[in-house]
Amino acid sequence: MLTTVGVAPRELERYRESVREGVIEAIREDAAKLAGARVLHINATAYGGGVAEILTSMVPLMRDLGLQCDWKVLTGSDEFFTVTKAMHNALQGKNHPWRPQDRDIWVNQNKLNAENWSDYDFVIVHDPQPAPLLYILRDSGRNPQGHFIWRCHIDLTDAQQQAWEMLRPFVEEYDGSIWTMRQYVRQGVPERHLKIAPPAIDPLSHKNEPCSEMQVKAVLDRFGVDPSRPILTQVSRFDPWKDPLGVISAYREVKAEFPDVQLILVGSMASDDPEGWEWYEKVIRRAGEDWDIKILTNMNGVGNAEVNAFQHASDVVIQKSTREGFGLTVSEALWKGRPVVGGNVGGIPLQILEGECGYLVDSSQQCAQRLAELLRDRDLRNRMGERGREHVRDHFLITRYLHDYLRMMLEVAEGSATEESAHAAPIAGAVGADAAGGA
Ligand code: UDP
Repeated sequence: MLTTVGVAPRELERYRESVREGVIEAIREDAAKLAGARVLHINATAYGGGVAEILTSMVPLMRDLGLQCDWKVLTGSDEFFTVTKAMHNALQGKNHPWRPQDRDIWVNQNKLNAENWSDYDFVIVHDPQPAPLLYILRDSGRNPQGHFIWRCHIDLTDAQQQAWEMLRPFVEEYDGSIWTMRQYVRQGVPERHLKIAPPAIDPLSHKNEPCSEMQVKAVLDRFGVDPSRPILTQVSRFDPWKDPLGVISAYREVKAEFPDVQLILVGSMASDDPEGWEWYEKVIRRAGEDWDIKILTNMNGVGNAEVNAFQHASDVVIQKSTREGFGLTVSEALWKGRPVVGGNVGGIPLQILEGECGYLVDSSQQCAQRLAELLRDRDLRNRMGERGREHVRDHFLITRYLHDYLRMMLEVAEGSATEESAHAAPIAGAVGADAAGGA
């Protein structure tokens, strides 16, 4: 059975100060057309990772706008999450040896979750884990009502063919789909109601709200980080694609020039991520007895407020992914006025305008060079940080994303989708803009 997730209320009005003029009004105008609509978001986990992060804000904002919005997560066994994580990896390009029973484990768990189904006007299903639900509901003759939208947060460009073939028939059932970038859309995905809308951050969440120097210092003290020495941080699940070992290599090179530098690696353990502990251990071993590397998790009491403080305290934030759907952590850091050095993959180049708000890198060596360059030059860091904050204000705040969802629902309901979000008019090649009436 699906489990309902509780969320704290949020008021759209409070976002007025963070966004450009006219944005709130434009959202309200479209939301009014959806007043009273019953909306359900379904994903795999209530905690850990970007999707949970976004829904924590998106769901209460939709409620504030007069929609009856719920969020439910799949109930799953360890076996189920092991299969879905393997699927996630295979869809990102890893060659996975599938066993005959894997597909059944995935689909049968979805069948259990489809029990006691209740209807909504719009159902937004996030990522592959719950994707079979719609097919199951239809196939079992339950004739579910409402419009079903599949939101794919991952890059399917290099998906293993076998994994994609398992997923494809389920995806084809949906009335529409939302993707982070056009190039992530796998050939064969129905073009009907297909929308491009990158994710975004909530400027008022505990993770992104303003944070005083005292609050930052208190957190650094608590975890033994010295505020007077340079700080580099990567916040990421412990996952091979986030390349935490590559981050340690880059830090070691930087340390040769800046012996005082400290590295903070923060990684939460998501309930749908069985690989987390294995990678945590690899990272610990690689760090060895270098006490200037702090390896922290939600298990050490690192929650949103602490992540906020670490990002604020950083001289440079790192997101050295080798594969990345979007990488919310990049916008989180830029919003705090910190330059980011990130992998030149997935949604990271949308956020890091090369040489303007940080640098894109393809290797640990390049990462080390850019980090050192930034550590040498405080003015450069400040300029890039300021530019990054405005870039996020224009394109990656939750208001723009919320509006994208509202427009998608209207379009699907009216049966008149345009291919791209009006908010996704290209700037610097590809991203959506948060401005009244579209970019
Ligand atoms: N996050 C966190 N604590 C951690 C690791 C990650 O709060 O220890 C948050 C992070 O701040 C971001 C989200 O989880 O908001 C990760 O989203 P992202 O898009 O960067 O990566 P994903 O995990 O979805 O691949």
